[in-house]
Amino acid sequence: MVKAVVGANWGDEGKGKITDTLADQADIVIRFQGGANAGHTIKNQYGKFALHTLPSGVFHQNVMNIIGNGVALNIPILFGELKSIEERGVPAPQIMISERCQFVMPYHILFDQCEEERLGGKSFGSTKSGIAPFYSDKYAKIGWQVSELFQDDDALREKIARVAVQKDILLKYLYGKEPLDQEELLETLHSYRDMVAPYVGNVSAYLDRALKDNKTILLEGQLGTMKDPDHGIYPMVTSSSTLAAYGAIGAGLPPYAIEQIVVVNKAYSSAVGAGEFTSEIFGDEANELRLRGGDGGEFGATTGRPRRVGWYDCVASKYGIRLQGGTDVAFTVLDVLGYLDEIPVCVAYDIDGEETTEFPVTHLLARAKPVYVKLPGWKCDIRGIRKYEDLPENCRRYVEFIEEQIGFPITMVSNGPAREDIIYRKSPLSRR
Ligand code: GDP
Repeated sequence: MVKAVVGANWGDEGKGKITDTLADQADIVIRFQGGANAGHTIKNQYGKFALHTLPSGVFHQNVMNIIGNGVALNIPILFGELKSIEERGVPAPQIMISERCQFVMPYHILFDQCEEERLGGKSFGSTKSGIAPFYSDKYAKIGWQVSELFQDDDALREKIARVAVQKDILLKYLYGKEPLDQEELLETLHSYRDMVAPYVGNVSAYLDRALKDNKTILLEGQLGTMKDPDHGIYPMVTSSSTLAAYGAIGAGLPPYAIEQIVVVNKAYSSAVGAGEFTSEIFGDEANELRLRGGDGGEFGATTGRPRRVGWYDCVASKYGIRLQGGTDVAFTVLDVLGYLDEIPVCVAYDIDGEETTEFPVTHLLARAKPVYVKLPGWKCDIRGIRKYEDLPENCRRYVEFIEEQIGFPITMVSNGPAREDIIYRKSPLSRR
């Protein structure tokens, strides 16, 4: 049984918490795409953790945590995270790194920084983790697979020199920087090899066996549909697919093995970086939601940057969940909205005087204005409630109104950051 946990919108929707919750019943948790540029926040019996690279199953000792081949692996960050969770009392987790996974080189980070500097105000709001240069090199076929680290020095030197020919020209003429230090890069590769050696494995073969043994496998996505390079708000997107379908490719599983797709969808909206965000709000209204949002405010888990916030967007969410192929929606952070008298919900976009509920391409999205419906608030704290029927009536109305608008079953409601703050719900739209 393979399940995927992915995001409907811009990310930061609580995927870490939902994966950590579902990891209870899983044997294997896999990160299948993305890099250390986004973070999951998890709160459990060991404390509060911001994970950027480690899969969210690391708090469960019986779970095998896999870094799939689709990931942009930052090796020092992975091992720094591993050390930091162990220092905080988490028993050493089981980890496997795909031999086909590619890793981020120091020059990917350097190029990300140089490019952001060059673009100035026109930048893409990159976290400068090297992700875009990394994936460019992967598809230009000058990336580095983990398995390559185990070659002899002659082979490593030859490849470093080959890559440096291209990189040095850009460094000198485009960015006005010094050429790469090739001997230093060789040492870096040696240190990376020593770090990963105990964990490298043939992930697709391992998963093939696991499927035959009826193990439960959880695919853990990063960000959400809006950041997908094909289906998101291009070019303000990330560099690897954020869709559940890519989970099959980024882990080495048959596509038909994915039976359940849990799309995590927050009860209001937030986004980081630049890009279209139709239901964004500003001023005091935004500040209040930002400060009350998530667990301790809507600020980036990696960068601490204040996130942009807005009301729930049915147009973007319906599209986002459809592209993920959602079988279940986990509706999160609902508790945060308990302070509002009325809650606006964006039900359509007005584009040049015409209303639509279909999510448009980017240049039309730039002209979209939100059409809001206001729902009555519930004006109380819903944390601690464990049964759907025990939620206040207006809170249930909010959930059910949104479910009707998006047309996908909301089967989980998250009403707090902790593992136990979860309400399972029977949805009239469930097909399972
Ligand atoms: P991810 O990237 O999708 O995993 O999202 P984040 O890790 O950024 O999660 C968003 C934040 O919301 C984190 O600080 C979580 O601890 C917190 N969170 C998750 N679910 C809930 C919830 O139901 N209620 C509240 N108040 N916070 C939540």
